Amino acid sequence: MSIPILAIAEQKDGKLANVSLELITVAQKLGGELTTAILAENAEGPAGELASHGGGKVLAVANPALKYYNDEVYARVITELIRKYQPRVVLASATFYGKALMARLAALNNGAMVSDIVGVKADGDAVTFSRPAYGGNVILSFSRAGDAVLFATVRPKVFDEAGAGVGEVSVESVDGGLFESRMAVNEMVVESGQSVNLTEADIIVAAGRGIRAQDNVDVIKGLANSLGAAFGASRAIVDAGWTEYRHQVGQTGKTVNPKLYFAIGISGAIQHLVGMQTSKTIVAINRDKDAPIFKVATFGIVGDLFEIVPALTKRFQSG
Ligand SMILES: Cc1cc2nc3c(=O)[nH]c(=O)nc-3n(C[C@H](O)[C@H](O)[C@H](O)COP(=O)(O)OP(=O)(O)OC[C@H]3O[C@@H](n4cnc5c(N)ncnc54)[C@H](O)[C@@H]3O)c2cc1C
Repeated sequence: MSIPILAIAEQKDGKLANVSLELITVAQKLGGELTTAILAENAEGPAGELASHGGGKVLAVANPALKYYNDEVYARVITELIRKYQPRVVLASATFYGKALMARLAALNNGAMVSDIVGVKADGDAVTFSRPAYGGNVILSFSRAGDAVLFATVRPKVFDEAGAGVGEVSVESVDGGLFESRMAVNEMVVESGQSVNLTEADIIVAAGRGIRAQDNVDVIKGLANSLGAAFGASRAIVDAGWTEYRHQVGQTGKTVNPKLYFAIGISGAIQHLVGMQTSKTIVAINRDKDAPIFKVATFGIVGDLFEIVPALTKRFQSG
């Protein structure tokens, strides 16, 4: 039995977000019949990209009102697509926007919702999603058979991006009234110095209390910039006011899953580990050879970060 799936792709400044290609992989694992929707001011470019990665029937919905994410408009338009295409499973990435959108969509469509999934399975008409809980110490499974529409946000960087595949773009016309909103987003301003989103980053360079003072945050950011990486932080330096909360990784911060994670001057408290220990490669730099971070590290460097980090930065800057 082939399950009808609707994947909601994401774009930023008209460019397809790479996490959207992970949704195609999830749909392939479910063995479903995939429809992908992309909403944008000009949707055909990202729609073409989705099609060439096996996005199935790719619905390009274009309107100036879709330039920036708007909960009200996006949820209304996608509810209309759900009514028309009758998916059994609706997928979006567990990003800032995906989380806001899917909770609203599930409520509007009287569906069941599972957030932050890391595994999927289909058996007949039963669909199973799994997700970590209690700081990653247990994996919960949720199964549902029958007709209910299931909404799931997919944790970024867990599933591979879909490779080349076949799809077909279809320009979807939607009733103009659906684009009207009580709210308008006029401008989106990217904060300087952080062009890479932490949860979507391939590389994260994270600092802990070992950096000793706020001024030394720049030493770690220098390494991050040399690698095109996002900057992460332990709670200790967030609580100290050396950097903003949005950089915090861990139980009470963000859960990340990059290809490469540098933990610099971070001891490896369990509350930090639960947010980053699934990173594919972990490099720990700490002067204490017994620091718990070395238990999860792929590569450990025992030494003074003030000697090691500048040397690495210099090496990466020179290509
Ligand atoms: C309910 C709760 C929730 C929490 N949530 C989070 C969370 O989300 N994220 C989080 O990170 N923490 C969280 N914590 C805090 C956590 O328990 C730790 O206190 C915190 O992670 C420690 O941060 P740290 O590793 O930067 O500092 P420390 O534990 O002080 O470690 C500093 C490390 O730097 C090393 N060091 C010092 N100087 C140098 C040098 N020159 N060169 C190399 N290494 C050096 C030291 O050897 C040490 O290992 C939480 C705690 C609680 C109780």
